[in-house]
Formats: sequence, C-alpha cells, structure tokens
Amino acid sequence: MKISILVFGSDTFLATLPDQIRDTTAFNLEVIADVHQAISHIQTAPPDIMLVQASLDGSMKLCSWLKEQTQLSWIYCIFLEDRPQKLAARSKHGWEWELQMTATVLNQGADAYIRHLPEEKTEHTLAGVTANQRLILAQLAVGLRKVQKYRDLLQKNDLLSAIALADSLTELNNRRALEWDLPRQIQKARTQGTPLSLIILDIDYFKKVNDTYGHLAGDRLLQLLGSRLRQNLRSQDTAFRYGGEEFVVVLANTTGDEALVVADRLNRIVSEQPFTINSKLTIDITISLGAASLEADDDDKGLSLLHRADQCLFHAKAAGRNQAISWDYLSHFSHLQAVSS
Ligand code: GH3
Ligand code: MG
Ligand code: MG
Repeated sequence: MKISILVFGSDTFLATLPDQIRDTTAFNLEVIADVHQAISHIQTAPPDIMLVQASLDGSMKLCSWLKEQTQLSWIYCIFLEDRPQKLAARSKHGWEWELQMTATVLNQGADAYIRHLPEEKTEHTLAGVTANQRLILAQLAVGLRKVQKYRDLLQKNDLLSAIALADSLTELNNRRALEWDLPRQIQKARTQGTPLSLIILDIDYFKKVNDTYGHLAGDRLLQLLGSRLRQNLRSQDTAFRYGGEEFVVVLANTTGDEALVVADRLNRIVSEQPFTINSKLTIDITISLGAASLEADDDDKGLSLLHRADQCLFHAKAAGRNQAISWDYLSHFSHLQAVSS
C-alpha cells in the first residue's frame, strides 16, 4: 500500500523538497496551502505523513490541532522551519536557542523539527542532494517506520477483535459481538426513526441429538445450522450464536410483522430439509423461535427487547415447539385471555 504525504505549503516550498517525495510509485502526494482546506482534507483522507511549512499561516495551529485529534494523532508531522526571523535568530543566538525552539515546536504537536535551509546544489552535494534534504529524507524514513508499525498494529487489532467476536464452532458472531452490536443497532434505529426487530431461536430437543448420535455429531449439526441460517438471511440481518444451541438474529429496518415472516421462513428452512452430518447420517431437527421489535421504552442495551423475544420463544416451546411466536401475537393473546376470564 502506498504511503500518503500531505505537504502543507506553497508550490515554491514544494520545489525545495527532495525529489524523492514526488516518486508516484511510492507516495501519494497532496499539496495544500490553506489551513482550513488542509483540516478538511485530513479529516476525509488522513495522510500518513505531513510536511509543514512553518512560514505559512496556521502552520503551528495545524500541528497542535492534529495532536488533539485522538483518531489522527498517529499522523507523523514534520515541521520545517523556513521563517527568516527564526533562522536569523538561530545564527545569532546559537545552539541553545535552537534547542529551546525545538522543544517548543515538539511540545506544540510536531513530531520532528528541521531548520529548512534550501541550499544551492553545488558539485559538492552528493548526487545533487543537499545536507538539508538528506535530513528531511532521514526524518521521512523515521515517519515511514512509525506508519508501518501503526499499520501492523491496526491489522493485529482487527484480527484480535475478529477472534474475540467470532464463535469458533459455527463462525457466526458470538454473544459478546451481540452485546457490542445491539446497542449500536438500537441507537441507529432510534436516530434514523427506522424499525428494528430481533429473533431468538433454539433447537428443539437438541439434548436428544447429542445423546443419540454423540457430541461430535451435535457439533457438526450446530455448524450446518449456522451456515444454513447465514445463507438464508437478508443483507441487513445478522446472526449470532447466543448460547449452546440458541441463536439470535438482529433484523435491521424490519417491523414486527416482517420479523414474523422471516422467523416462519427460518423455521421452514430448518424443518423441511434434514442436515447431512456425513455420508451415513442425516438428522431431522426443528427449531422454536420468538420475535420482538424495538419499542420506545426499551433500554439502550437491548435487554428488554431480548427478554420479550425470549418470552415468545418460551411460549413457542410450551405450545409444542417447531413454530414461531411474535410479541404482537403473544400480547394480543394474553389480552384476549384477560378479557375472557
Ligand atoms: P428444548 O427443546 O427444550 O430446547 O430441549 P433441548 O434438549 O434442546 O434443551 P436442553 O437445554 O435440555 O439441552 C441443550 C443441549 O445442548 C444440552 C447441551 O449439552 C447441548 N449443547 C450446548 N452447547 C453445545 C455444543 O457446543 N455442542 C454440542 N454438541 N452440544 C451442545
Ligand atoms: Mg433446545
Ligand atoms: Mg437452549
């Protein structure tokens, strides 16, 4: 992957930088001279490395702003000192002044501070690269090492989250993933004003499967059920393994009536076709399902929503299994019972 560099500077400043940064095979180079434009560019397409021309309006402000953004503070920011009065002060006051100035700039948010003295290229300069340009290239190499480390870390983080949120048997998302995802789905549904529903399903008499065919056959059945569910869900639905032989499906942008249609369909795709465990064994199973939809007084974590779906599942089991019951049906039914008694 190419490294992206943002030069916050003028075209004349760009011309003083080493030719290597214009190598389009290694870098994506952007040049911006306006601080507001630079900020909005960084927000939409964060660069890996920034080279900042000190004499441009807002240069120090840009470095400070960058380091205040927790999501962006990894961007390596090289501050190039080209302000004539500062360069003159360095010549006048010497090393100590430079050390103090470096400390100030680093404290304000830059990762490196280089006095930028575009020298004339003479026959003494190595392959036309001046000492100043060599320092910029060396600092750029430091930035590249940091970027590489940061990218490796991100990759490892992604991998670790994937491991932490996946169920190793079925490869579906696990319960921890549901606890992470459901509050976000609820918040999204509430801000967008869209419906959200949820199904809990549980294999009927699964203990018997284990007792009759063994635990390994039971494991295989769970895997096959997981993949059958996944293949039969719509793009906005997500399946989670909630517990042993219990699954949750979160249905974004779905009303209670639609959720019941999905639940009935899942019920059929399980009961109508047996599961092939191996060449000698196929197993017929059924599932029971409970469906509920988000209501205004549900909590943000989804506990009350899960609880309603679970109550429906309980009633589906009690009513003979191999069926789906929705909260709408259940509350209507108990209302009728209350009226008739
Ligand atoms: P019900 O219709 O009431 O749901 O009956 P059931 O037998 O499915 O329910 P019960 O809760 O009595 O038993 C669930 C069984 O699921 C018991 C447990 O050993 C088994 N189980 C849970 N996790 C796994 C697993 O990862 N692999 C296998 N093979 N079995 C599991
Ligand atoms: Mg069960
Ligand atoms: Mg169960």
